[in-house]
Amino acid sequence: MSAFELYHKHGIRQYRVTDIARKKDHKIVIRGIRRTDSLQCPVCGSKNVSTKGWKERVFIGIPSGNLKTEIHLMIPRVHCHHCGCCRQVHLEFAEENVRYTRFFARYAKQLLAHCTCKAAAEILRVSWDTIKEIDKKDLQKHYADPPLRKVKNIAIDEIAVKKGHKYMTVIVDLHTMTPLYVGDGRGKEAVKGFYEKVRKSSCKIKSVAIDMSPAFTQAVKEYFPKAILVYDHFHIIRQMNEAITSCRRRIMNSAAPGSLIM
Ligand SMILES: [Zn+2]
Repeated sequence: MSAFELYHKHGIRQYRVTDIARKKDHKIVIRGIRRTDSLQCPVCGSKNVSTKGWKERVFIGIPSGNLKTEIHLMIPRVHCHHCGCCRQVHLEFAEENVRYTRFFARYAKQLLAHCTCKAAAEILRVSWDTIKEIDKKDLQKHYADPPLRKVKNIAIDEIAVKKGHKYMTVIVDLHTMTPLYVGDGRGKEAVKGFYEKVRKSSCKIKSVAIDMSPAFTQAVKEYFPKAILVYDHFHIIRQMNEAITSCRRRIMNSAAPGSLIM
């Protein structure tokens, strides 16, 4: 394998391939070493650096057909003559503290769009934990903290999970319909976490739509006292219909037998 292939298949550049071997356990091992003609300080970017030792690190790469790919790279540590730091060079092909390449993570995410973590782990010949970690990082990156700055009108409602044995409270932005927060339970406490996030942001909640739950009503009055409280019209109509039915029954029961009620 050439450095060209190492770059285009695994996203690793500036490394020279020193060896490639097929192992017994359905695995290909690629060995490489960092070129030293373009080293930079990972802190200040200065090229005025000198090498201070090497360390081998192992990364999982995109599989070759049915074979798992392991990439063993010799990575230098550099001393910067500009800022004085002494660190390992920056690895642009992998995130910090992970044992797989960015290309591998991207490939796993593409698979996860079509199958479960377990199936993806079996296809890629890695542990379920590795795939779950990739999935979790992706979810955190895209959905962890939706920006609250422009949020003005929200809705709060509860959902039943685990066949109704557990409830969760969901808060959505009524303008974008983006879920903003999910709290445990269905009481006032379930909204408190969202209130803390709002308090730390610059957003001003103008209105809150809820069903007629007393707990949510109390939460809105306490956490968002300046917001307009909007009850879902479905619940209002239902209560009105129940009141009319009850009233009708009372009149019918109190009317004299045979009298005509208009
Ligand atoms: Zn530096």
